[in-house]
Amino acid sequence: MAKYVYDFSEGNKDLKDLLGGKGANLAEMTRLGLPVPPGFTITTEACRAFMADGQLPPELRVEVTMAVRRLEDAIGRNLGDPYDPLLVSVRSGAKFSMPGMMETVLNIGLNDASVQGLAKFSDDERFAWDSYRRLIQMFGKTVLDIDGALFSGALDDLKAARGVSGDTDLTAADLQELTGTFKDIVREQSGRDFPQHPREQLDLAITAVFNSWNTDRARLYRRRERIPHDLGTAVNVVSMVFGNLGTTSGTGVCFTRDPSTGHSGVYGDYLPNAQGEDVVAGIRNTLTLADLEQLDPTSYAELRQAMRRLETHYRDLCDIEFTIERGKLWMLQTRVGKRTAAAAFRIATQLVDEHLITMDEALDRVTGAQLSKLMFPQFDAAADGRTLLATGMAASPGAAVGMAVFDSATAQQWAAEGKDVILVRRETNPDDLGGMIAAVGVLTSRGGKTSHAAVVARGMGTTCVVGAEKLDVDVLARVMRVGKRVVKEGEVIAIDGSSGEIFLGDVPVVPSPVVRYLEDGLDVALDVAADDETRELVKAVDRILTHADTVRRLRVHANADTPGDAHRARLWGAQGIGLCRTEHMFLGDRRVLIERLIVAQDDAERHAALDALLPLQRSDFVEILREMDGRPTTIRLIDPPLHEFLPDLTELSVKVALDAERGATGPEVERDRVLLTAVRRMHEANPMLGLRGVRLGIVVPGLFALQIRAVAEAAAALLKEGGRPHAEIMVPLAASVMELHLVRDEAERILADVAAEQGVQLHIPIGAMIELPRAALTADRMAQAAEFFSFGTNDLTQTTWGFSRDDVEGAFFAEYTERGVISVSPFETIDRRGVGRLVRIAVEEGRSERPDIVLGVCGEHGGDPESIHFFHEVGLDYVSCSPFRIPVARLEAGRAAVSAAGSDSR
Ligand code: PEP
Ligand code: MG
Repeated sequence: MAKYVYDFSEGNKDLKDLLGGKGANLAEMTRLGLPVPPGFTITTEACRAFMADGQLPPELRVEVTMAVRRLEDAIGRNLGDPYDPLLVSVRSGAKFSMPGMMETVLNIGLNDASVQGLAKFSDDERFAWDSYRRLIQMFGKTVLDIDGALFSGALDDLKAARGVSGDTDLTAADLQELTGTFKDIVREQSGRDFPQHPREQLDLAITAVFNSWNTDRARLYRRRERIPHDLGTAVNVVSMVFGNLGTTSGTGVCFTRDPSTGHSGVYGDYLPNAQGEDVVAGIRNTLTLADLEQLDPTSYAELRQAMRRLETHYRDLCDIEFTIERGKLWMLQTRVGKRTAAAAFRIATQLVDEHLITMDEALDRVTGAQLSKLMFPQFDAAADGRTLLATGMAASPGAAVGMAVFDSATAQQWAAEGKDVILVRRETNPDDLGGMIAAVGVLTSRGGKTSHAAVVARGMGTTCVVGAEKLDVDVLARVMRVGKRVVKEGEVIAIDGSSGEIFLGDVPVVPSPVVRYLEDGLDVALDVAADDETRELVKAVDRILTHADTVRRLRVHANADTPGDAHRARLWGAQGIGLCRTEHMFLGDRRVLIERLIVAQDDAERHAALDALLPLQRSDFVEILREMDGRPTTIRLIDPPLHEFLPDLTELSVKVALDAERGATGPEVERDRVLLTAVRRMHEANPMLGLRGVRLGIVVPGLFALQIRAVAEAAAALLKEGGRPHAEIMVPLAASVMELHLVRDEAERILADVAAEQGVQLHIPIGAMIELPRAALTADRMAQAAEFFSFGTNDLTQTTWGFSRDDVEGAFFAEYTERGVISVSPFETIDRRGVGRLVRIAVEEGRSERPDIVLGVCGEHGGDPESIHFFHEVGLDYVSCSPFRIPVARLEAGRAAVSAAGSDSR
């Protein structure tokens, strides 16, 4: 029988799959002897059983009873006891943190009798009634699904009736009356009384947490973070400790290092006399930990000790939630903390320098996604005419410019219309998630660095500034006021998530220091860096990237078709070109030459066109091969359907028809007529599956021969110059080895001819793209005629799934993701089970036929972090991706090599 319940003393930090992140870490802190309020965790397995059957498993009820009794014995108080009651909180906690997405219910165990006991134990009647009304309010909203506004409305009415403005101005008697009103609301809205039995409260709260796994906002969050929908959440039942028992109590959040910069220090927020979620909700502005040191030096010292202990134990930055109840510190949560991209790099190298982790571990602690974030431009500090509106707290770095919008729905609507928007709120709550995702930046006037807005934005990598108190955000009037200035919805603002500055209007941006480092090298980047922090970042990136280069097995090549791209690719660390798409070389002025080739009526016309193209192609290849001097450069023969080089069928038809009607004559009219016949002949219903790739090379005489000759002559010319051309010829879209043989026979003849003509020795390997299922399934035969394979996973995905790569992503992928058919586009991240299986088969069969075959990938997946780990696993020799993604690919290839079990960066 499954064990559904674990006491905190039974688990540990490695049981996140089963106990969720919060539960596993509470267990770990308990094992470390830190002051954790006793409690237990209901496993994610119980949640999955609940989702399957729609009810709590019967064994779970029994196990909860046992666990509650153990808890009661340990604490010496009983749930619902009218004299000395035990109260518990019921908190969600999935494997991956989903801040604010799921439910929490506090103060379970209070009822009409035990509220009296709480009043006595706390010696504070007001506190007891306040806790009880909070339970009914929270329970009513989250468990019984009652509109929360009814409760807050009743609270406001009571305050108005008493002529007071703050909750704290209400007396015990007022709150007792309010509790009665809340109970009436529950009865009217749900048709039942607020449950008095603590066990019923507990079971309903557990059910509500399980159900909250599947709310719209939780599903939306998971889709974005690529968290599978079938994991389920654990539930933590924790004995209550109170941060709202007067001025010697309070609640707070802290980090063992600054999550924005990585610097160690005392970093956190504290709210005296407050409960649970008040800090994270960002509703009241908080004190610093330095203030706590003044208020309660003993608890502060104990907290610092716990922080150090946790950082040493986890060997990483931890974030911590704590509560002080009448001078006694309690640890409510810890986890390895989310951090900004820059901090991730800095912290990783700081920990290496402190000898807490190795360089391999440092590499595993950063991600390609973080590196690419560091490559974004930043605001230009030297730009003239910047209008600073206000400065808030820098919560999540980046430079965002967009139109101010004041609610989530508008943010989503405007973003869908293609506008960049910045979501401006007083504070955010989980209902704002849709708007936060849609926005390029998030700005709030309230809350600290650990407020909802800050935590969620940081997790998503969205630029965010919080707590800009000078802003008066008026959602109803759709404006924000800053002193006398009024900024209306739709006006452009710019926010700097690294400095906290908020500007009116657009602000120019400058390249990132990391890009400077990639382009000009470490010394220059350090010289021009704006400050020490930037220098530390650049050094950290250099150290980790250099380490990735030494440990990775995968080489990294670039997809590049111009000398400019090739140059950048090389600067950024490309070790070759994995895909040079030659079709791009036939556009622009040269299109007309291709037209001539297609409409050629006889050999003479065809040769004339080919002869005109040859020198142009040759000089293209000379330039690229010269740029890549000595590095493999894989030149792919022309691939797309020929009609892409011809005029549009409809337009040309209309033109010819009009000419005919007008009786126009002349060479151009004649040319159009001939062209139209060719365009009609070549028109295909399914061009991507039609006359393209190798098929074209076989049926259009001279086309591939021209390209092969151009490659050979370019290589010969460079050899004669003393260069080291390393060209390779790649055949696209082959499905049969016979196609390869035809091309290879012709190519070998041409290469031998050019070698003889030029008096040089040419070694130009010929290989195949594997981008059709048949090619993968017959890879042993394909390898007979190919010295290398390059997986064209764009077309391989298209043809394996039968998804048109040009159409489906916009057409129905949103619905497919929503309905759970796919969790991420297979064009973005390799579909391991399907397309990946074909890759595996082709790797095995290709190597069995030709052990020294070189294997690479040049589809878009070559630059995708998760896919790179897959390509490492299946044993490819290289990945090839666009120049901008090369640093990311280098890093991820290194990570793949050091993380044997694969990595999970969420
Ligand atoms: C591919 O299909 O994966 C590929 C790289 O070729 P293209 O995208 O040019 O079709
Ligand atoms: Mg392709």
